[in-house]
Amino acid sequence: MLVVTRSVLAFALFVTLAFEFAPLRARADNSSLWLEPYREPAARLIGEALSDTFAWRRLSELTDTIGHRLSGTPQLDRAIQWAVEEMKNDGLENVHTEIVAVPRWVRGKESAEILDPARHPIVMLGLGGSVATPPEGIQADLLVVHSFEELDASAVRARGAIVLFNVPFTNYGETVRFRSSGASRAAHHGALAVLVRSVGPPGLRLPHTGALQYAADAPRIPAAAVTTEDADRLQRMTRRARVVVRLNMEAHFEADAESANVVGEIRGREKPDEVVVVSGHLDSWDVGAGATDDGGGCVVTWEALRIMKKLNLRPRRTVRVVLWTNEENGGRGGLAYRDQHRGELSRHVLMLESDGGVFQPAGFGFTGSDRARRTVAEIATLLRGIGADQIGPAGGGADIGPSVLDAKIASMSLDVDGSKYFLIHHTAADTIDKIDPTEMAKCAAAVAVMAYVVADLPQRLGE
Ligand SMILES: [Zn+2]
Repeated sequence: MLVVTRSVLAFALFVTLAFEFAPLRARADNSSLWLEPYREPAARLIGEALSDTFAWRRLSELTDTIGHRLSGTPQLDRAIQWAVEEMKNDGLENVHTEIVAVPRWVRGKESAEILDPARHPIVMLGLGGSVATPPEGIQADLLVVHSFEELDASAVRARGAIVLFNVPFTNYGETVRFRSSGASRAAHHGALAVLVRSVGPPGLRLPHTGALQYAADAPRIPAAAVTTEDADRLQRMTRRARVVVRLNMEAHFEADAESANVVGEIRGREKPDEVVVVSGHLDSWDVGAGATDDGGGCVVTWEALRIMKKLNLRPRRTVRVVLWTNEENGGRGGLAYRDQHRGELSRHVLMLESDGGVFQPAGFGFTGSDRARRTVAEIATLLRGIGADQIGPAGGGADIGPSVLDAKIASMSLDVDGSKYFLIHHTAADTIDKIDPTEMAKCAAAVAVMAYVVADLPQRLGE
């Protein structure tokens, strides 16, 4: 009994002490003395980014002068040359290209129309990677479905039909599967072609393109996105009567083309072999101007280095900007980087990709060790003044993915207000007027501060 009492007392004392000292210890940790020397450079980086609309003007030059940049096109080649020259003008170091063979998909002429019960044009965009229709087009009855289950249940009616997937946009992850695998699912049941409701919220009759993937075990049939308005109209019409649609597409692949990732650096002053990569993809779809997807991501990550150079801030480790080729329809740039840099991937401290737009930044998504997460969360407190101090549960990107997976590198995405992104994603409306120069400058500031501090930490991130 006595023993129990003593141990209870001892436990009570332990609890009391633990509670008394815990806040003190927490306060000491949270005060983050190591962060203090970074307040001044962070303030300078933010001040420089926000002092000017340089990033927005650079993006407007890219998108106005060169425009959209699909893999294998002369426009993408020009954008690559332009970026190399501009990076050299900025004074970046080790500026060069790294050759990548990319697919060359050509849209050609395309159209769709309702023939029966009345003639109406359908506003559409062929899906990237689609095959063509025969020259005379494909003319068939329309079958509207709202899920793969409904398609399977309507298999008999799918044979010989054009199938429309009319699935309203919820979020990208959920809805994009009808664009990526709808054609093969329908072809499996004998459909002749596929239309897909655009993957995005309703917006003034804008079709959204994007890549599809054909399965190996089904015939390759043509596929196109239609606007939400046209999808709903087709659905209303099929409820009243039989609807006949014609689709004409010339889409095809040509031989692979030579393209390149563009690389520039600020070499580290103490550990130049250890690298922090920041990046965006320079290629885009062949509509709009590729401003939000992903010219903006290229420019704000590149800005991080330009501003460091301008302020003469050289971190301990190397900061490298990579402008990827072929994110949209192949991912070959990210794969080539993994293969070409295999020998140094273990010395990659962090890889960041900005491919979600350059609207008001919220912070970063992060994937890495708990210890590294605590460090980046503290660095992010330096961004509270521009509202970019949140660290989300996961961060990555399509182009950094292959390297990150291969060498288990900590990875990050720039997280921004996503409310406008999918309205213009992969459409003719992806133009620079949707981007606010101040929000874009804040994105550049956020990337600059995060990249600079991680590259300059006394210990490698996570150690
Ligand atoms: Zn993108």
